[in-house]
Amino acid sequence: MVRTSSRPGVLDRVRPAMPSPASSFRPRPWLLLTAVAALFLFGACARDTPAAAQPDTTRIALIAGRPSHPPGMHEFRAGALLMQKGLAGVAGLQVDVYPMGWPSKIVDGQEVDDHAALEDADAVLIYADGGSGHPALQRDHQAVLDRLAARGVGLGFAHYAVEVPPGADGGDAMLRWNGGFYEHLYSVNPMWRPEFTSLPTHPITRGVGPFATHDEWYFNMRWTGDAAARARITPLLVARPDDAVRRGPYVSPPGPYDHIIADSGRDETMMWAYERADGGRSFGFTGGHTHANWGDVNQRRIVLNALLWIAGMDVPAGGVVDTITAADLTMNLDDK
Ligand SMILES: [Zn+2]
Repeated sequence: MVRTSSRPGVLDRVRPAMPSPASSFRPRPWLLLTAVAALFLFGACARDTPAAAQPDTTRIALIAGRPSHPPGMHEFRAGALLMQKGLAGVAGLQVDVYPMGWPSKIVDGQEVDDHAALEDADAVLIYADGGSGHPALQRDHQAVLDRLAARGVGLGFAHYAVEVPPGADGGDAMLRWNGGFYEHLYSVNPMWRPEFTSLPTHPITRGVGPFATHDEWYFNMRWTGDAAARARITPLLVARPDDAVRRGPYVSPPGPYDHIIADSGRDETMMWAYERADGGRSFGFTGGHTHANWGDVNQRRIVLNALLWIAGMDVPAGGVVDTITAADLTMNLDDK
């Protein structure tokens, strides 16, 4: 992960023009006006919030971070749009993508946070750069997520978004939300190819076969020290890095770290599910650096299944079957 001075949440630029159909995104104001007008034309009652999901519809909000890395890496928007397409066939589900980070809106010509966009979500995924610039740590966002968590909203964190500063600056919150987090100088981020050959029985692993992708699979998360909370963590993607991986170099900093080398032979967890104390569900997924790896149906399926699971939906017996094609992998890439 490359540190960047471009802090997510700093409103220093406007949203880019959307290259794909507007229907792929959370409807924009003019679309809402059109929709409201159409409702009136057909004699239906206009809703106060036309964009809101129907009461019996489950809604997942995908927060995709701002561009930060070279092409093909940290393609948060393109990845989130793949997830949205991947879940398009799930009945009763609405998936909204928020490119460029935390939902925002224009008020008096200024871009401001739009927390209301998350209020009726059943699950929120953050796939973005983390650390001190993590979208969940800006302004009052921790309080917003705590409020959502308290009412059972599912939470997911993918790739760099599993990293936050330790302690009160973010780690404590992430332990509440997800049971563990990537801690700088404790966790590691080598590029390697773990072989996920054995998956536990869990709704998230339904239909997921063995797979291996070469990616920046972080491991050695800082797990909660609370035994009861630890018991609610289910490792989902587990593999054993060889000593060459442990010796590095890691992506950043290059290491190696003595404590990582000392754990030679130990299995490591690259994805986990967490059942929170408040009854809500969460997951962490440390891959997702290399966009092309979403072309692996098993990597895709385990994340799509996880999104359904944290949203409280049933995961199909064979897992989510999507219609993603190789061509889809080339779509929506950030202009960088
Ligand atoms: Zn990365």
